[in-house]
Amino acid sequence: MIMKKWGILRGKEDDLVRDLKKTTFSFKKLGKKYGVSRQAVLAFCKRQGIKRPVRPRGHQIEECRLCQELIGISKKPHSEFISIHTIVKETGGSRVKCLSHLRTLRDKGLVTEKFGRLKSKRAEKAYAIYFKTRLPISTIGRKVGIKNFHSIIRKHKEIGIRCSALPLCL
Ligand SMILES: [Zn+2]
Repeated sequence: MIMKKWGILRGKEDDLVRDLKKTTFSFKKLGKKYGVSRQAVLAFCKRQGIKRPVRPRGHQIEECRLCQELIGISKKPHSEFISIHTIVKETGGSRVKCLSHLRTLRDKGLVTEKFGRLKSKRAEKAYAIYFKTRLPISTIGRKVGIKNFHSIIRKHKEIGIRCSALPLCL
Protein backbone atom coordinates (compact mmCIF):
# COMPACT_ATOMS: atom_id res chain seq x y z
CA MET A 1 0.00 0.00 0.00
CA ILE A 2 1.18 3.43 -0.89
CA MET A 3 0.01 4.83 2.42
CA LYS A 4 2.67 2.81 4.21
CA LYS A 5 5.39 5.30 3.46
CA TRP A 6 3.34 8.01 5.11
CA GLY A 7 3.96 6.62 8.53
CA ILE A 8 2.26 9.48 10.31
CA LEU A 9 -0.92 9.21 8.30
CA ARG A 10 -1.48 5.55 9.04
CA GLY A 11 -4.80 5.09 10.71
CA LYS A 12 -5.89 8.59 9.82
CA GLU A 13 -6.83 7.91 6.22
CA ASP A 14 -10.53 8.04 7.05
CA ASP A 15 -10.09 11.44 8.67
CA LEU A 16 -8.24 12.72 5.65
CA VAL A 17 -10.90 11.37 3.30
CA ARG A 18 -13.52 13.15 5.36
CA ASP A 19 -11.57 16.42 5.34
CA LEU A 20 -11.06 16.17 1.61
CA LYS A 21 -14.74 15.59 1.03
CA LYS A 22 -16.18 17.99 3.55
CA THR A 23 -13.80 20.95 3.72
CA THR A 24 -12.26 23.35 1.27
CA PHE A 25 -8.94 23.35 3.11
CA SER A 26 -6.05 23.50 0.68
CA PHE A 27 -3.84 20.46 0.09
CA LYS A 28 -1.08 22.41 1.74
CA LYS A 29 -3.14 23.02 4.87
CA LEU A 30 -4.25 19.39 5.01
CA GLY A 31 -0.66 18.29 4.53
CA LYS A 32 0.31 20.35 7.52
CA LYS A 33 -2.52 18.88 9.58
CA TYR A 34 -1.59 15.30 8.76
CA GLY A 35 2.16 15.79 8.72
CA VAL A 36 2.67 14.95 5.07
CA SER A 37 3.53 16.97 1.99
CA ARG A 38 1.06 18.88 -0.13
CA GLN A 39 1.88 16.57 -3.02
CA ALA A 40 1.17 13.50 -0.93
CA VAL A 41 -2.30 14.79 -0.09
CA LEU A 42 -2.95 15.64 -3.72
CA ALA A 43 -1.83 12.17 -4.83
CA PHE A 44 -3.96 10.53 -2.14
CA CYS A 45 -6.99 12.55 -3.21
CA LYS A 46 -6.53 11.52 -6.83
CA ARG A 47 -5.99 7.88 -5.95
CA GLN A 48 -9.14 7.82 -3.88
CA GLY A 49 -11.05 9.51 -6.66
CA ILE A 50 -12.35 12.13 -4.26
CA LYS A 51 -14.20 15.05 -5.74
CA ARG A 52 -13.51 18.08 -3.61
CA PRO A 53 -16.24 20.58 -2.78
CA VAL A 54 -16.07 23.78 -4.77
CA ARG A 55 -14.28 26.45 -2.89
CA PRO A 56 -16.48 29.49 -2.41
CA ARG A 57 -14.94 32.64 -3.77
CA GLY A 58 -13.85 35.63 -1.79
CA HIS A 59 -12.99 35.99 1.85
CA GLN A 60 -13.04 32.76 3.83
CA ILE A 61 -12.87 33.20 7.59
CA GLU A 62 -11.40 29.78 8.24
CA GLU A 63 -8.59 30.51 5.81
CA CYS A 64 -8.05 34.17 6.66
CA ARG A 65 -4.97 34.68 8.78
CA LEU A 66 -6.24 38.01 10.12
CA CYS A 67 -9.62 36.61 11.14
CA GLN A 68 -8.01 33.64 12.82
CA GLU A 69 -5.67 35.93 14.76
CA LEU A 70 -8.56 38.15 15.77
CA ILE A 71 -10.53 35.15 17.00
CA GLY A 72 -7.44 34.03 18.91
CA ILE A 73 -7.09 37.37 20.66
CA SER A 74 -10.81 37.50 21.40
CA LYS A 75 -10.49 34.25 23.35
CA LYS A 76 -8.05 35.77 25.80
CA PRO A 77 -9.45 36.64 29.22
CA HIS A 78 -11.05 40.09 29.38
CA SER A 79 -10.51 40.50 25.66
CA GLU A 80 -13.15 43.22 25.47
CA PHE A 81 -10.78 45.37 27.50
CA ILE A 82 -8.04 45.10 24.89
CA SER A 83 -7.96 48.30 22.88
CA ILE A 84 -8.24 48.42 19.13
CA HIS A 85 -4.72 49.89 19.01
CA THR A 86 -3.28 46.78 20.58
CA ILE A 87 -5.38 44.50 18.40
CA VAL A 88 -4.19 46.24 15.24
CA LYS A 89 -0.61 46.13 16.48
CA GLU A 90 -0.74 42.45 17.41
CA THR A 91 -2.22 41.41 14.09
CA GLY A 92 0.28 43.56 12.26
CA GLY A 93 -2.36 44.82 9.90
CA SER A 94 -3.79 48.17 9.07
CA ARG A 95 -6.55 49.60 11.20
CA VAL A 96 -8.97 49.77 8.28
CA LYS A 97 -8.40 46.15 7.34
CA CYS A 98 -8.63 45.04 10.93
CA LEU A 99 -11.93 46.83 11.45
CA SER A 100 -13.47 45.38 8.33
CA HIS A 101 -12.55 41.80 9.26
CA LEU A 102 -13.73 42.48 12.81
CA ARG A 103 -17.10 43.56 11.44
CA THR A 104 -17.43 40.30 9.54
CA LEU A 105 -16.55 38.30 12.64
CA ARG A 106 -19.07 40.21 14.76
CA ASP A 107 -21.78 39.71 12.16
CA LYS A 108 -21.16 35.98 12.25
CA GLY A 109 -21.05 35.94 16.03
CA LEU A 110 -17.48 34.65 16.03
CA VAL A 111 -16.33 37.44 18.32
CA THR A 112 -18.52 39.35 20.73
CA GLU A 113 -20.14 42.59 19.72
CA LYS A 114 -17.88 44.43 22.15
CA PHE A 115 -14.54 42.97 21.12
CA GLY A 116 -12.40 45.68 19.53
CA ARG A 117 -14.64 48.53 20.68
CA LEU A 118 -12.32 49.88 23.37
CA LYS A 119 -10.51 52.86 21.94
CA SER A 120 -8.38 54.18 24.78
CA LYS A 121 -4.94 52.71 25.27
CA ARG A 122 -4.78 54.31 28.68
CA ALA A 123 -8.03 52.70 29.75
CA GLU A 124 -6.74 49.38 28.48
CA LYS A 125 -3.69 49.78 30.66
CA ALA A 126 -5.80 50.73 33.67
CA TYR A 127 -8.08 47.70 33.22
CA ALA A 128 -5.11 45.39 32.78
CA ILE A 129 -3.67 46.61 36.06
CA TYR A 130 -7.01 46.14 37.77
CA PHE A 131 -7.50 42.58 36.55
CA LYS A 132 -3.98 41.72 37.60
CA THR A 133 -3.70 43.49 40.94
CA ARG A 134 -7.25 44.43 42.05
CA LEU A 135 -5.83 47.68 43.37
CA PRO A 136 -8.36 50.37 44.23
CA ILE A 137 -9.75 52.10 41.16
CA SER A 138 -8.55 55.52 42.24
CA THR A 139 -5.01 54.23 42.78
CA ILE A 140 -4.93 52.76 39.29
CA GLY A 141 -6.33 55.96 37.82
CA ARG A 142 -3.47 57.89 39.37
CA LYS A 143 -0.94 55.33 38.16
CA VAL A 144 -1.91 55.56 34.52
CA GLY A 145 -2.92 59.20 34.51
CA ILE A 146 -6.67 58.88 34.23
CA LYS A 147 -8.45 61.53 36.25
CA ASN A 148 -11.66 59.65 36.78
CA PHE A 149 -11.33 55.96 36.14
CA HIS A 150 -14.64 55.43 37.92
CA SER A 151 -16.57 57.40 35.35
CA ILE A 152 -14.73 55.67 32.51
CA ILE A 153 -15.72 52.29 33.90
CA ARG A 154 -19.29 53.53 34.13
CA LYS A 155 -19.26 54.79 30.54
CA HIS A 156 -17.86 51.53 29.26
CA LYS A 157 -20.41 49.63 31.28
CA GLU A 158 -23.16 51.61 29.58
CA ILE A 159 -21.94 50.63 26.13
CA GLY A 160 -21.61 47.01 27.21
CA ILE A 161 -17.89 46.76 27.85
CA ARG A 162 -18.30 45.35 31.29
CA CYS A 163 -17.06 42.66 33.58
CA SER A 164 -18.52 41.45 36.83
CA ALA A 165 -15.01 41.50 38.28
CA LEU A 166 -15.05 45.28 38.15
CA PRO A 167 -16.38 47.00 41.28
CA LEU A 168 -18.84 49.25 39.44
CA CYS A 169 -20.13 46.59 37.11
CA LEU A 170 -21.81 44.45 39.71
ZN1 LIG B 1 -10.61 37.81 7.50
